[in-house]
Amino acid sequence: MDIVFKRSWVEIDLNRLVLNYRSIVSKLEAGQQVMAVIKADAYGHGDVPAALALQAAGCGFFAVATLPEAVHLRNAGVHGELLVLGYTPAEYAGELVRYDITQALLNEEYASHLAAQGQPVKCHFALDTGMTRIGLDGSDAAACERVIRSVHEAGILRVAGVFTHLSSADMDDEASAEYTRAQMDRFRAVATRLEDLHLPYVHCLNSAGALRHNDGLGNIVRAGIILYGIEPDDSDPAQDGLLPVLSWKSVIAEIRNVREGTPVSYGRTFTAPKPMTLAVIPTGYADGYNRLLSNRGHVLIRGKRAPVVGRICMDQMMVDISGIPEAKVEDTVTLLGTDGGLSVTASDLARLSGTIGYETVCAISNRVPRSYTGKKN
Ligand SMILES: *Cc1c(COP(=O)(O)O)cnc(C)c1O
Repeated sequence: MDIVFKRSWVEIDLNRLVLNYRSIVSKLEAGQQVMAVIKADAYGHGDVPAALALQAAGCGFFAVATLPEAVHLRNAGVHGELLVLGYTPAEYAGELVRYDITQALLNEEYASHLAAQGQPVKCHFALDTGMTRIGLDGSDAAACERVIRSVHEAGILRVAGVFTHLSSADMDDEASAEYTRAQMDRFRAVATRLEDLHLPYVHCLNSAGALRHNDGLGNIVRAGIILYGIEPDDSDPAQDGLLPVLSWKSVIAEIRNVREGTPVSYGRTFTAPKPMTLAVIPTGYADGYNRLLSNRGHVLIRGKRAPVVGRICMDQMMVDISGIPEAKVEDTVTLLGTDGGLSVTASDLARLSGTIGYETVCAISNRVPRSYTGKKN
């Protein structure tokens, strides 16, 4: 374990990341491979350590959101396929080629701007089959085919794949399942029309799609959140054999006894209803602990729950440790993770703060140092 500054810090278990990867691989259909989605600093887990651990485990496909994220990984020794899923200004065509990075084509106009740079950029065409974000209009398969063939035949851009993105694969109501099937059918229609091009990469499944809707469509599965041991719908990851990779720890900086009627923190939103013992924790919303957890969140100390009292501050928060008389200054505090028999998951905090597990881990700021256990590369 690396030595970190123990004020507020994150511990990443790379062995668990690799176990999740293997578990996902074991459930794929024949001919499919995992593309590890490691955008946004691997959802807050650290892009380079995550990518190198997965690369060592045999993963050869990676996706990020931006060109700088991709270059960062290349420079750190990631040598597999690297796909940028979002917008890159066309003027960076030279960098895409120099670093051997594949760019998503957002639409026909974007493709022509990129091609106008005259660089042999590797590309995957995005299809909009119902997400209403980027991509060619997937409701018109013939038009998609025409555009993709014309860009392919122009011979400047190297069209190596087509992909789409599912909007509702994490929802289990029947209307959403039907919507997902319709998206996949639209995608299948375009992919079938292009079969003679033998595009090496055909992909439509995200984590939720891989877990719940994998009928063998496509040869790549873009897995993000499940690699990190978090369910896309914030359900229990154990149901799919997934292990949470990230724990977030802090310490007790100060303990104080307060009298009944004592107001706590900004705006006095909490007033002690009785004499209480509070602990001051040096983690706040600038560290990424959501301010909506004010008076709602809880942390773990000595295997017991301590509720957040009053507003979360920028750099600190207060918790009620009246029920944990054995707690001492400098005790480790678990914000996310397990302590004794109890656990707080990213999804737990997400539910309490009206968001999703994805945002909970992505929001942990870079003021919070990451330390790693397990094999790095
Ligand atoms: C972020 C993203 C993914 C990964 O989604 P998960 O739900 O984390 O698996 C896959 N594809 C695209 C296009 C994305 O933007």
